[in-house]
Amino acid sequence: MKYVGAHVSASGGVDQAVIRAHEIGATAFALFTKNQRQWKAAPLSDEMIKSFKQNCVKYGYGKHQILPHDSYLINLGHPEFEALEKSRTAFIDEMQRCMQLGIDLLNFHPGSHLKQIEVDDCLARIAESINIALAETEGVIAVIENTAGQGTNLGFDFTHLAKIIERVKDQSRVGVCIDTCHAFAAGYDLRTEEDCEKTFQQFSDIVGFEFLKGMHLNDAKSEFASRVDRHHSLGEGNIGYAPFRYIMKDARFDGIPLILETINPDIWPQEIAWLKSQQNS
Ligand SMILES: [Zn+2]
Ligand SMILES: [Zn+2]
Repeated sequence: MKYVGAHVSASGGVDQAVIRAHEIGATAFALFTKNQRQWKAAPLSDEMIKSFKQNCVKYGYGKHQILPHDSYLINLGHPEFEALEKSRTAFIDEMQRCMQLGIDLLNFHPGSHLKQIEVDDCLARIAESINIALAETEGVIAVIENTAGQGTNLGFDFTHLAKIIERVKDQSRVGVCIDTCHAFAAGYDLRTEEDCEKTFQQFSDIVGFEFLKGMHLNDAKSEFASRVDRHHSLGEGNIGYAPFRYIMKDARFDGIPLILETINPDIWPQEIAWLKSQQNS
């Protein structure tokens, strides 16, 4: 079973995101559980939690179909103590919001070294941040997203993901989300079926499909191996349709949220319908 959807707006409340997902024909969705550009957010009210859960039941979204994304401000590998503490506190709050909403995944970008510490030191900090957050929470899986490697962002190389996971104490509560645009921009080709075969074999060898908890399906405005993060609508960018066909036909991507973060929300219904149509064609 494939679960396909998009990162929908939660404006007006997280319960509204569920309705928006349903309206575009999605069988999975992503959302921010708080404003992604602010550190602080009001706690979720009991009423909002109840309404979110009711909508999930009403429209048929189970835990494995929802992949929230954390705030862009958080850097779990921050080189400076105070900023690292601030990020860790905010991340724990995000995990707790997921617990309250009955969601068991939280997708995040690993972190940036800001040219102040070595790559391995930064990866170790990220793993330690995950260990701290897992100890403070229950049930929620920390889902590390691969990045395009823009600026000093880590996580663009599959070995970064493996090195973080290796240091996490509770391996049952860590996973990864692969963003096709980020992978392509980081130098993992996906333009042909053979490229997909090769890239996902590398993923399998280095990280392992047992850790794959979600996918972000995006074409790229950015060039191959450019380390630039610019998404595009499916088939309209430099990647083309190949990986999306490949993913929809491959059972290794069953049962996890497959989320569009493409740039034109107006065509999400068509993109979702097209993806679904690839399963049996
Ligand atoms: Zn992301
Ligand atoms: Zn993404």
